[in-house]
Amino acid sequence: MPWWRKREEQPGGEAAAGDPTLPVIRLEHVTKIFKGDGEETRALDDVTLDIQRGEYVAVSGPSGCGKSTFLSVLALLDTPSSGRYWLNGRATDRLSPGEKARVRNLDVGLIFQSFNLIGDMTIYENVEYPLTLRGVAPADRKARVDAALERVGLAPRAKQRPGSMSGGQQQLVAVARAITGRPAILLADEPTGNLDSKNGEQVMALLGELHEAGATLCMVTHDPRYASFATDRVQLFDGRLVAERRHSEEPRNALAG
Ligand code: ADP
Repeated sequence: MPWWRKREEQPGGEAAAGDPTLPVIRLEHVTKIFKGDGEETRALDDVTLDIQRGEYVAVSGPSGCGKSTFLSVLALLDTPSSGRYWLNGRATDRLSPGEKARVRNLDVGLIFQSFNLIGDMTIYENVEYPLTLRGVAPADRKARVDAALERVGLAPRAKQRPGSMSGGQQQLVAVARAITGRPAILLADEPTGNLDSKNGEQVMALLGELHEAGATLCMVTHDPRYASFATDRVQLFDGRLVAERRHSEEPRNALAG
């Protein structure tokens, strides 16, 4: 079994609750409506989508089309107004807020545009933090953090703090933090948004390598150049999934030329 699928035993064995025959992500007629000042915004409008294990899906579309809302729903940070969402085989509408937090910590690796690293912690501690929250034993934590930092090429900088690193390096730390929990899916929100093209390309190359090694990824981006790195692409427009283009034939190194 590949390393990212090996799951530690969870207290109470609840981690195994999902239905393994379902895709990692299943959205069925998901709508998200925001209400305010007498106006309604359909940020997501009847979105139906499966993401299978091992897929790398890019979700693109113009500003305001619902990309952030889509990712928030996927990460269990926001709840659909209607429709259903299964994450790693679990029906998420039946989860309490505490269970959502636990499932998020277990199943989702989040990579944000703004890195979201904790400035007071070292690189090592930042990457270790989700495992500490999860109650992973110290020896196992160390092995996994070392492996994740090695994977992104930052093992020698484990004792530094994020503020002393470049934006590109900070994003690599964020990727290490996301993969160290061996999540069912990596969710990336404009992961190159704050990076110059060289650093952006390095992060995209790493995501591509993780996909090649079997990880499941969903990346939200407004930039079609970066969307072309994914193997499957969908587009949002006014909250609707308007185009679906599976298994792109364009080269993945689209930034090279
Ligand atoms: P994108 O990430 O593609 O820019 P968003 O998901 O942020 O799009 O927003 C989609 C639509 O939903 C926009 O019209 C936005 O103004 C609206 N929206 C997003 N979040 C909220 C909120 N918390 N309250 C009200 N409207 C919101």
